[in-house]
Amino acid sequence: MERSHNLQGLFILAALIALGGLYLWQNNQPTITVSVPAGSPTPENATPPDWQVALESQLQASTPLPTTDPNATGFMPPTLPPTEPATPLIIEPVDVDSVDVDSIDIAETPWPTPTASVTPDQLATIQPSAAGPTPLSSPTGIIGPTQIEGYQPPPEQVPLSSHANDHFWMVRPVDASANSASLFYYPFGSDGPQNEWRVHHGVDMPNDIGEPIHAGGSGVVAFAGNGANVVGGTDLDIYPSYGNVVLIEHDFGYRGQKIWTLYAHMSAITVQQGQRIQAGDVVGLIGGTGDVSGPHVHMEVRMGENDYFAVVNPLLWIAPYIGHGVIAGRVTYEDGRFVEDVVVTLSQEGRVYETTSTYVQPYMPGAQIWHVMPDPAWDENFVLGDVPAGDYTISVTIRGQRIAQEITVKPSTTNFVSLSLAFPATPQAVDTAEPSPTESD
Ligand SMILES: [Zn+2]
Repeated sequence: MERSHNLQGLFILAALIALGGLYLWQNNQPTITVSVPAGSPTPENATPPDWQVALESQLQASTPLPTTDPNATGFMPPTLPPTEPATPLIIEPVDVDSVDVDSIDIAETPWPTPTASVTPDQLATIQPSAAGPTPLSSPTGIIGPTQIEGYQPPPEQVPLSSHANDHFWMVRPVDASANSASLFYYPFGSDGPQNEWRVHHGVDMPNDIGEPIHAGGSGVVAFAGNGANVVGGTDLDIYPSYGNVVLIEHDFGYRGQKIWTLYAHMSAITVQQGQRIQAGDVVGLIGGTGDVSGPHVHMEVRMGENDYFAVVNPLLWIAPYIGHGVIAGRVTYEDGRFVEDVVVTLSQEGRVYETTSTYVQPYMPGAQIWHVMPDPAWDENFVLGDVPAGDYTISVTIRGQRIAQEITVKPSTTNFVSLSLAFPATPQAVDTAEPSPTESD
């Protein structure tokens, strides 16, 4: 008993000493502050954020690197929700025999002159007034690309193909910090606000002289020199007005067709014919050589043929900025024919965001081709590039009738919209004063 009492005492004493030591030791340690954020549990069926959805869809739907595949599938028009009534798209060429080929001299048509410039205010005055049941609530001015200053988000990586018909395979030809908004009053396929310029076969990106110009994609320099010394194709009288030009034959094609890009008006050329280049390589510097209204790079995308007339809209090939999408649209009459040269207005909450115009496509009988080509993937007649993701209204006025569509622009992809004069819902009395089918406004 005595012995166990002593042992118990010793244990208690040892325990007390240990506790005391532990207390002293702990109080000598530096204090560590740990803050645990009070998170909220993620519900199992939570909707993932937009960027996650976009990223996942890109990873799943990204196309393999483009190649020239002679066995590529033929034309696949975009899948659209059915519109009433479904009419085939018919582009009626002019009767070749009825056209006096010799009377067509495209060299006579002027390029934009240095004095020809249009401000957004001036453009607003030449837009057709909004008529119809839901007119725009007094646009307070053009917002959008012309007002982007100092900040541009980074562009998407190429190749980018969120939709099966997307082919954003090219980097933009100017630095991310430079202006890549094409002149809104002289878009691809336009003949200018006063219909007095040549139909535009590319897009113009006005920038300071000396800014680098980058190759849109990899390939071989097919031509580097003054446009007067021939760029190839059928219309040699065109090329002197391009000034210093670089033309690239790309490593990739599209649906069995070769692709070229052309960069014009350079102040300096930094590559040589035959040189192999990669996407983004500097091929020259911005300049104002040839016929220009100011220093800019004119970029063309040629498909199928290295020819002035075999051009498609570059805005469907250049990857948009992150968080931005591209709108491709089709404006048609009741029977599906394209409406030419009509102003397309993109607005948000009643404010005009951007305007463009539908392609002018005079048939060139001498060349047996159209002036500019709709994209084989989209069959569009207007494109708006780099539109911030969001909800918009897109509208046109044809024969005094305003047609508007709501559109949600998704980022990193092409967003298709169709605007068509609707057939009358009920049979109408026969009107002998039928408007001319070629009328456009
Ligand atoms: Zn141009």
